[in-house]
Amino acid sequence: MEDELLSIGDFAARCGLSPKMLRSYARAGLLVPALIDASSGYRYYSPGQLDQARIIGHLRRAAISLADISAFLRDPDPAQFDRWDRDLSVQLRARRRALVEARSAMVPMGGSGPTAPPPTTEGVDMTTAAQAGTATDAGTRDTNEDQVLVADGLFAVADGVGGLRGGEVASRLALDTIEAAFRSAPTIQGLRDACEEANRAVWRQSRVSHGEEGMGTTLVALGITSDVGAVVVHVGDSRLYRLRDGQLDLLTQDHTVVAELVQAGQLTELEIEGHPHRHVLTRAVGVAPEVALDVARVSCEPGDRFLLCTDGVVKALSTIQLETLLTTASAAHQAAAEVVTGAIGRGADDNATALVVDFS
Ligand code: MN
Repeated sequence: MEDELLSIGDFAARCGLSPKMLRSYARAGLLVPALIDASSGYRYYSPGQLDQARIIGHLRRAAISLADISAFLRDPDPAQFDRWDRDLSVQLRARRRALVEARSAMVPMGGSGPTAPPPTTEGVDMTTAAQAGTATDAGTRDTNEDQVLVADGLFAVADGVGGLRGGEVASRLALDTIEAAFRSAPTIQGLRDACEEANRAVWRQSRVSHGEEGMGTTLVALGITSDVGAVVVHVGDSRLYRLRDGQLDLLTQDHTVVAELVQAGQLTELEIEGHPHRHVLTRAVGVAPEVALDVARVSCEPGDRFLLCTDGVVKALSTIQLETLLTTASAAHQAAAEVVTGAIGRGADDNATALVVDFS
């Protein structure tokens, strides 16, 4: 029996791992030698352990942690490969996105590129000039997973997704986190950090709380920052519009499968009507340890009216209908109420939420 065992050197040569790695895996409890000679301390492995050693080697090259490998080997679920694969795609997208943002941030730093955009809040006293009104309705659904936030210089809506009560928890937790963090650092970087903190908060909560696994939320936030004025942060398919001189402009691009196909030129706007994946999100807050945020300055002038809304509004009302409602309603709270009533009245099969902010 004993002479079938392999010395650590022979075992290392046959499985392609170094003796040093094998010792560290033994310490981690991942791959324990079949026998340790009590007098010499030499380690011996059985040929039957070769397959496991090779699997560990492959997973380590895939940068899977020792703890995750250990959990997998205790309970080998083949579906785990799909989950690792998905995590990898998410991380890769987030890293690509960060690279793109770093590249665009280089332009003003270099001094040779185009100059920074002009201040975007000319003539608006941001501390006193905003009037906000909100409205929300569960529609035909039992619960309302949309949330809305109106705070000092910060306006946001979030549409929760996933799990039993997960959607509601995710959208509330995200907005609460952003509000607290932005209050202590009301700059463009502070807003970005606040949203990243919200992502981590939802992600952590979803990992520890039963019934909230996989929860996440969309987010669109309009922050009046102390350094660059109005800034929008956006993830998912909740939207920011601006009404100026009677014309309504969409300022965010949805993070959905079909919106990205349209941007890539693979689908036309007309083809997405009725597309089965038109509401499938490609990004959400809280579904992964990191999130790719769209952050942009927003031009904001006296007389501008902004609408932040969830997809329940967008699915029921066309841009022209929204434009008409927002143009005719006088006060912000009345505009928000009419948008939501209009969406529900057209049979929105989703929660509908509107936040209207007027600047004067
Ligand atoms: Mn929705």
